[in-house]
Amino acid sequence: MTSSKSPYTISAKTQEVVDDYRKYVAGGFAPYPVALTRVLGSQAWDIDEKQYIDFLSMYSVVNMGHNHPKILAAAIKAMSEGAVINLPFHSPYYGQLAEKLHQMFGYDKFVAMTSGAEAADAAVKIARKWGYLTKKIPEGKCHILTAAACYHGVTISTVSLASKKSHLFGPFVPSVGSTSPSGKVVAFGMINDLREALELDGERIAAFMIEPIQGSAGIIVPPKGYLKEVAELCKKHNVLFVCDEVQTGLGRTGADLCHLREGVRPDLVVLGKALAGGMYALSGVLGDDNTMSLIDPFEIGSTMAANPVGCSAAIAALDVLVDEQLSSRANEMGALLVSTLSAADLPHVKEITGHGLFYALVLDDKPPKVTPRRIVSLLAQRGVLASAAGLKRIRICPPLTISKEELLKGVEILIGVFKDIE
Ligand code: PLP
Repeated sequence: MTSSKSPYTISAKTQEVVDDYRKYVAGGFAPYPVALTRVLGSQAWDIDEKQYIDFLSMYSVVNMGHNHPKILAAAIKAMSEGAVINLPFHSPYYGQLAEKLHQMFGYDKFVAMTSGAEAADAAVKIARKWGYLTKKIPEGKCHILTAAACYHGVTISTVSLASKKSHLFGPFVPSVGSTSPSGKVVAFGMINDLREALELDGERIAAFMIEPIQGSAGIIVPPKGYLKEVAELCKKHNVLFVCDEVQTGLGRTGADLCHLREGVRPDLVVLGKALAGGMYALSGVLGDDNTMSLIDPFEIGSTMAANPVGCSAAIAALDVLVDEQLSSRANEMGALLVSTLSAADLPHVKEITGHGLFYALVLDDKPPKVTPRRIVSLLAQRGVLASAAGLKRIRICPPLTISKEELLKGVEILIGVFKDIE
């Protein structure tokens, strides 16, 4: 069977799944006709048992590989004990996870959430409360500044943080976003924009919140030294520096947290995605007592946040990150990825950008049929899972546990697609 939108044949079983999506899932959702049923390590299998190499990691969720046996065992253990213990009582797993994060990253406190957006939202609330109580910003005037083209999630507050928003979702949360109160637009990576915005409006700005590498915008790497300059400017203007590490954190960019690559220490760090190794929805915020002591868990905690299954899985996932030295592996495998792709001199690829195992292939402007969507479809057809990022980029982000053989096999398929595409 051939779909009108797909360049390749879809099996009857896959078609059934795709039809269910089209009929019953809001928006029809999945752009690629691949129905995955099983995953392990860096591999996935579809409903027809066709095997794929994962070059996407479900958008940085499975940094530790799919179904890592230690993370799975930890999740199952907590699940078999009962997964509903939470506020107003204590679960040992939550305390142990917070302690582990403190030992790894040095922040006084951790507060757990479920999705990345919820954690980014919590960071905004913490920063605003700090802005009123500590910085003494007049009531109602507190501004949270972001960078243009940022992505922090899909809730109404996190879409309000973004520069591009559908007006059909408005009105948006006021006094958040990439434009300062006096109208200065802050582009990502442009330190002079931030300087000007803080000089104009620093007194009203509680926090500057950025991704250390913009992920959903297409893996946009800022100039070297940017994070350091951001940290200095924020300090100078008494503005909190908030780093959203939901996509870049936990080994993905070749450091346990991406901002550590520049030796900076943000005031708040937002975590998500890989925190529970892909076994459970767990996110959260790290910060010191100067900010975190201002909030009450009942003000920002939600019912399923800090669920014992997620916390137990996260403790194991952090152990795997450290024990298997995944940040260094990301650098090693990333170097191999880049050197092999560069040597292949791929047609239509003008740049390979990223760090660790967080990369995008940036396409040149011609010919028009060489689109990221088409290349990703062809990759799926030949057994590699990747994803388009924007109109010009293809995201290459395998699990950090990927073997050299799997990586090279996936790269060979990728090179084949580019060579055959014209
Ligand atoms: N923040 C960043 C930097 C992200 O990349 C994402 C998701 O891609 C989010 C927040 C939102 O996370 P979630 O989809 O879990 O809500």
